[in-house]
Amino acid sequence: MGGLDPPIAFSGTSNQLPQFCPCGMIFPKNKNREDQMSRVAVVTGGSRGIGAAISKELKAKGCKVAAIYAGNDAAASAFTAETGIKTYKCDVTSAETCAATLKQIEADLGPIDILVNNAGITRDAMFHKMTLTQWQEVLNTNLNALFNMTSPIWGGMRDRSFGRIVCISSINGQKGQMGQVNYSAAKAGMQGFTKTLAIELGQFGITANAVAPGFIVTDMTAATAARLGMSFEDFQAAAAPQIPVRRVGQVDDVAHVISFLCSEGAGFVSGQVIYVAGGPLC
Ligand code: NAP
Repeated sequence: MGGLDPPIAFSGTSNQLPQFCPCGMIFPKNKNREDQMSRVAVVTGGSRGIGAAISKELKAKGCKVAAIYAGNDAAASAFTAETGIKTYKCDVTSAETCAATLKQIEADLGPIDILVNNAGITRDAMFHKMTLTQWQEVLNTNLNALFNMTSPIWGGMRDRSFGRIVCISSINGQKGQMGQVNYSAAKAGMQGFTKTLAIELGQFGITANAVAPGFIVTDMTAATAARLGMSFEDFQAAAAPQIPVRRVGQVDDVAHVISFLCSEGAGFVSGQVIYVAGGPLC
């Protein structure tokens, strides 16, 4: 246990022998150091949208991945058939179900090193029309789930002196959004959770970061377009000119950033909110 990122484990082949740097850190010779992670990763909402891209990216980097989903069995089965990634049906709003599912994942795949809190929902309404149910559903799924998912596994990460926790927030947690007082509050809360976790758990080799996407093409944004009475194509076309890079985001734009934050080499990046929005807060 200690305040520094743990040393990298070597598999022992001669071309991967460690080399020593004048600053005292040890680096492997292998230039692909960041490209392979043999870690166990859990991704909530991991079988659709952004989460599916994260699951696939982490698997491609060598992780054993468990993808959690809420109830869309058809999408989960199709995802497993396509990727070979095992899916687990688990409502992240239930602390008991999360604890049991995480226990099962550890029995199946081994101790959990990486947690990506990605599951999220919207229940949009102007505040004067928002119901208590809409408020609670969004807070429970986006924010309270962080407690449910993180508390059963952080102790194991501490004992093994390694952990990567990434929470998917949103630019709307920073800037607010019309009709999303519940979602914006939850996404802002996720950032506070993440920063505090980083401060408390850094001494155990655990990092915590948040990623805050802007407009990403998924079922979630398609549903927003439908609610506004627009075709998804028109919705994207209207959004793109307002984004400095002049396009909406794709799921891989987010997954690449998550992959970096979960890597061995990202041990000195913690407590950050990384905006993946094609510009500042777009
Ligand atoms: P999505 O396509 O709607 O997928 C949401 C995923 O979350 C699904 O896999 C769903 O499971 C899962 N989920 C929802 N409620 C759950 C629960 N109670 N328990 C377990 N899993 C649950 O959403 P997305 O667009 O990929 O969004 C992923 C994350 O990014 C969310 O946190 C969202 O707020 C955030 N985000 C998205 C955007 C964007 O533009 N898309 C922008 C900023 C932030 P099922 O498959 O079973 O339904």
